[in-house]
Amino acid sequence: MDYERHFEKAIARLKAEGNYRVFADIERRAGDFPRAVRHVTEGDRDTVRDVVVWCSNDYLGMGQHPAVIAAIEDAARRSGAGAGGTRNISGTNHYHVLLERELADLHGKEAALIFTSGYISNEATLSTLTQILPGCIIYSDALNHASMIQGIRHSGCEKRIFRHNDVDHLARLMATDDPAAPKLVAFESVYSMDGDIAPIAEICAAARAANAITYLDEVHAVGMYGPHGGGIAERDGVMDQVTVIEGTLAKAFGVMGGYITGSAALVDTVRSYAPGFIFTTALPPAVAGAALASVRHLKASGAERERHQERAATLKRLLREADLPVMDSPSHIVPLLVGDPRLCKLASDELLDRHGIYIQPINYPTVPRGTERLRITPTPLHTDAMMRDLVAALREVWARLEITTRASAA
Ligand SMILES: *Cc1c(COP(=O)(O)O)cnc(C)c1O
Repeated sequence: MDYERHFEKAIARLKAEGNYRVFADIERRAGDFPRAVRHVTEGDRDTVRDVVVWCSNDYLGMGQHPAVIAAIEDAARRSGAGAGGTRNISGTNHYHVLLERELADLHGKEAALIFTSGYISNEATLSTLTQILPGCIIYSDALNHASMIQGIRHSGCEKRIFRHNDVDHLARLMATDDPAAPKLVAFESVYSMDGDIAPIAEICAAARAANAITYLDEVHAVGMYGPHGGGIAERDGVMDQVTVIEGTLAKAFGVMGGYITGSAALVDTVRSYAPGFIFTTALPPAVAGAALASVRHLKASGAERERHQERAATLKRLLREADLPVMDSPSHIVPLLVGDPRLCKLASDELLDRHGIYIQPINYPTVPRGTERLRITPTPLHTDAMMRDLVAALREVWARLEITTRASAA
């Protein structure tokens, strides 16, 4: 058995498709975001180049917010670097307790539970909750994130996939199943690749009619929508209709970690049964402290949210005026259609190497084949001048690579 050959062939397959991933070696500079430094090797010499980052999920720049940095420094000085154990065995720190209280309050729920990432929170919660419910059937939006799909797979439950954001299809699927079977509907609010938004109230109404519970991933909305940053469910006034609201502390909150919020009994069940929560070291206290500061700041301040929406709207307008194929989205996410994996990678390389603009190409399997794109995430800290540079660079790259997509083709 030639193991190495199998690994090499697997990699060669990706390269032939144009789907091989190359990481940019970025050094973030606190206080200078979205500017950063990229480390490159030229010949046999290591050097650095200035870049403007246009694809960060630090959507509001909270990763460098003075209150957040002060909190992480302060908590590290008080409590040290690591948590020192799992939550059950000596790892529960007071910062965890405060953060869970804050998150439960943010979403209007009785309780919250934090995990080491949003990915784990989805995987652990979806697989555990549904195993507790005998014969549970899971209804999953067709575009759900890999972490939810993985959790659903691990649950071992029957699964039905409803067409993306299609409430009628969801209702029909639930109606054909045993009315007595426990049911869970899993979906997202803002879908991160297209930037479209789920009809939360309608989905919850359909679920209620079928006696189903609902699980909402608000990872791309928490901190950014709603009067206190509670997400789209808060914006729409429907938080109380969703059974579980899940979020991340790593995107708009700018730190690290994931969480669920829900009823006391539901959250206690996940706390007590989920291997992905139980058998892993707790978040470092400093990370929890920083996240706490970030959540608190964005609960009280709407300025970042307002500026974020204005920046996204401005960039969409500028791209449209420049005749670039910006895909329609009602959110802060600005996808630019390329429609071919090799061209998408090439366009990204050209932007980085010739223009100092960093936008990671998004190819299959993250998005369907034929819809490869550059996913642009403007933040409150991207200036008008940066936007002008971006649009000029994109026009040049589009012309040089003869990219001919229209947004309507998506
Ligand atoms: C990023 C992401 C996650 C995972 O969150 P992390 O905190 O980064 O692990 C979950 N759901 C969706 C939709 C995501 O985009």
